[in-house]
Amino acid sequence: MTKVGIVSCFNVTEEHGCVMIGCLAHARGKKTFFESHEGEVVLQGVITCHGCPTAVGSARILKRVKMLTDYGIDALHFSSCMVQLCPFLDEFETDVRAEFPELTIVRGTHPYLDEEAFKRGVSELNAQRVRPPQNINDVVFKRIEFPEKE
Ligand code: SF4
Repeated sequence: MTKVGIVSCFNVTEEHGCVMIGCLAHARGKKTFFESHEGEVVLQGVITCHGCPTAVGSARILKRVKMLTDYGIDALHFSSCMVQLCPFLDEFETDVRAEFPELTIVRGTHPYLDEEAFKRGVSELNAQRVRPPQNINDVVFKRIEFPEKE
């Protein structure tokens, strides 16, 4: 059995409302990024990062990871949205590995059909140039709209 935890992007999960259906489905089914874990995969918990870093960004991600290691996880996944979007991920991973050397670290939770469309969609969500405001399901279900003059 492998106990796993997932850290996801605050912007995607909290700001844009992702319910993490892809991450959870792949963990439950022991698919793709979860396949290599030994035995049954038990998802212990999920937490977001603490939002985009300040000067103490790394300290904040370590605190979030600690919230999961307190429940005895063997492996930590950085969500696929973090892998696609987070400019701080390399630094986070280095610091998490140093602080929690016993953890197996995995970058990703599920594949994307179209990575570029995902990035473009989230950029539009960050900008919110179209009314009414859109959310991550608009990206996932490919109904997101962009300003006409683009
Ligand atoms: S871009 Fe990186 S630091 Fe910013 S909210 Fe997303 S995961 Fe966190």
